[in-house]
Amino acid sequence: MEEIYLDKNENPFNVPEKVKKEFINYAKDADFNRYPEKGLPSLIKKLAGLTGFSSENIIAANGSDELLDILIRRAEGDIVVSSPTFEMYSFYARNYGHKAIDVPLRSDFSLDVNGILAQKDAKLVVICSPNNPTGNLIDRESIKKILDSGVTTILDNAYYEFSGEDYTDLIAKYSNLIILRTFSKAFSLAGMRIGYGIAESKFISEIKKLQAPFYMNILSAKMAEIMIDNYSLIVEKIKYIVEERERVYNEIKDIAYPSSANFLLLKKDLYGYMEENGIHIRKLPLVKDRSRLTIGTKDENKRAIEAIKKYVMEKF
Ligand code: PMP
Repeated sequence: MEEIYLDKNENPFNVPEKVKKEFINYAKDADFNRYPEKGLPSLIKKLAGLTGFSSENIIAANGSDELLDILIRRAEGDIVVSSPTFEMYSFYARNYGHKAIDVPLRSDFSLDVNGILAQKDAKLVVICSPNNPTGNLIDRESIKKILDSGVTTILDNAYYEFSGEDYTDLIAKYSNLIILRTFSKAFSLAGMRIGYGIAESKFISEIKKLQAPFYMNILSAKMAEIMIDNYSLIVEKIKYIVEERERVYNEIKDIAYPSSANFLLLKKDLYGYMEENGIHIRKLPLVKDRSRLTIGTKDENKRAIEAIKKYVMEKF
């Protein structure tokens, strides 16, 4: 039985052949003995083009994890998170001796805006949308209410490309907002560690001061540039994954929540059962009786659906 990996919200597709070829051509003659150009202006310019912002509004990083690390490190006090959510926020808070105050999502996974605004000592609020692991989008009005309070806010938008919801227009109005994105999901580049942030230029220059000058290696930077140049090839894959997400959801909707990302939250802890079937899904130690299934290729999804349907028949 072939093992399949639907546990880390990775893209099931490797990078397109055309991209691989361009990358290998670059790598053949790259100056490995030299440091990257300081600040990677060429990559920043391409990210600006991709997002419709100017270079001063963009920071790139060694995965969006690096930006979470920097932003949480610089917070001078408590940070607010809304569980269940991405566990790295609390991890960094603990690392830097900050208190992570949990204002849990409501039972429909919406943000408890009043609960967050009541945290008067909070210096940083982290909102994840689409949220990992619940998969839902957080509504704009709730986000705006948090931003209106003036508190520095991270909007972790790692699954943006699968969601159809773009929050970047909020940046023109809110200088306290930073939106984080990644090349690890829609761009198939989890192994290269590339993330970026978009914010008002003063905010960006503040956080750039906390970043090492040579924050990303030349191969990752070049790969990101080539990917941006070939964005149309990515769009096809995003469409495939979104269609598959809807198909899988419709097949197992008794046991899954709807999602705007590339994964589904399951209403049961199927981790052990799926492992026995050679299908690795994500166990969620902090979320009782739930587990998370990443959307894979059609064949992988077929196996996952069959196993889940069998479980439902046997256990209900
Ligand atoms: N934010 C969220 C919500 C994530 O799920 C992930 C990856 N699992 C990240 C950030 C980290 O992304 P990166 O690979 O860019 O560090």
